[in-house]
Amino acid sequence: MKIQLAPGPSELYFTVAGHLRQGLKDGIASISHRSRAFEEIFSSTTRALRELLDIPANFHVFFTSSATEVWERAIENLTESTSHHFVNGAFSQRFYEISRQLQRAATKQEVAPGGAFEEAVATPVELIAITHNETSTGVSVPLAWIAEVRKKNPDSLVIVDAVSSLPYPALDFNQFDSVFFSVQKGFGLPAGLGVWIVNERCLRKAEMLAGKGRSIGSYHTLLTLYENGKKNQTPSTPNVLGIYLLGCVANDLLARGIETLRRETDYKASVLYQALAAQPLAQPFVTEKKWQSKTVVVAHTGPHTAALAAHLERHGFAAGEGYGQHKKSHLRFANFPAHSKEQYERLADLIAEFRPAG
Ligand SMILES: *Cc1c(COP(=O)(O)O)cnc(C)c1O
Repeated sequence: MKIQLAPGPSELYFTVAGHLRQGLKDGIASISHRSRAFEEIFSSTTRALRELLDIPANFHVFFTSSATEVWERAIENLTESTSHHFVNGAFSQRFYEISRQLQRAATKQEVAPGGAFEEAVATPVELIAITHNETSTGVSVPLAWIAEVRKKNPDSLVIVDAVSSLPYPALDFNQFDSVFFSVQKGFGLPAGLGVWIVNERCLRKAEMLAGKGRSIGSYHTLLTLYENGKKNQTPSTPNVLGIYLLGCVANDLLARGIETLRRETDYKASVLYQALAAQPLAQPFVTEKKWQSKTVVVAHTGPHTAALAAHLERHGFAAGEGYGQHKKSHLRFANFPAHSKEQYERLADLIAEFRPAG
């Protein structure tokens, strides 16, 4: 099996197979989501996440089926009519489109794919959406810039899509009202589970909208997630096995140490960016250094894309394809806790030695 460097689904964290076997043996996949056993899994997973990500007590942790679901729920539950989106790639653009599809007056500040934003000011809106790590282009919004948005827009709710960066960034929860991720990227788990973290302000907003008789959706609402969450339960039958595995991996990452994990991520990113700097046939797609992602490194490989991918493939690495229009001209490299330093050193050597055929 090749080492999976696509950003998601990505390489499984190395403990997942063992936890999966144990979970099946313990009958986790067949327990009722109204049982005491499930409530214990719910509470132990949320506890581990709180510790790992340093989530303050005034934030709630809920489970959804995906991050895409959170996009929709966020618009439904946190806005009556307006949202503003910082768009620099396909994922941030999709969040914007969902708001439009739900008939909100969505606005956006758009820069070229992979580009950096300037003005942190939005016109007054109910919700501001920031994609911390744009998985399609490898651009990451500096945390100081998120703080800037917060400072300049104190009346707006701020939501951060951190799907392809967590658990790496040391987030300051005072700088936003909600953050979310799904588990098949940085957490190295099988797909099919989203995590939505919200503060009291978000709950009040959903209550206010519901109180006015506005629809806040039907499948999952912030209020049903909250009512069930108080009992360590979920409104619908959730991905019990996924919640269980997330708790196991969060505990494993805690044991390894979040600081160690962050240092290793920085180290691996610098090894890879150095290799790209030394290889004239592949450049980082994001040129602004401060905005280059540590967790999803995107290389512009132009006409050498297929040959470089094949070279890596022969040596056991499956690079991620470019996203959308960049399918044939970019390669993407996930730098997650599941990827080891040794793998990244080897990857850098392979990139350095690459020469086109002929
Ligand atoms: C993958 C991704 C999503 C969508 O996640 P799903 O779990 O597929 O719904 C959203 N935002 C970003 C930044 C992503 O990378």
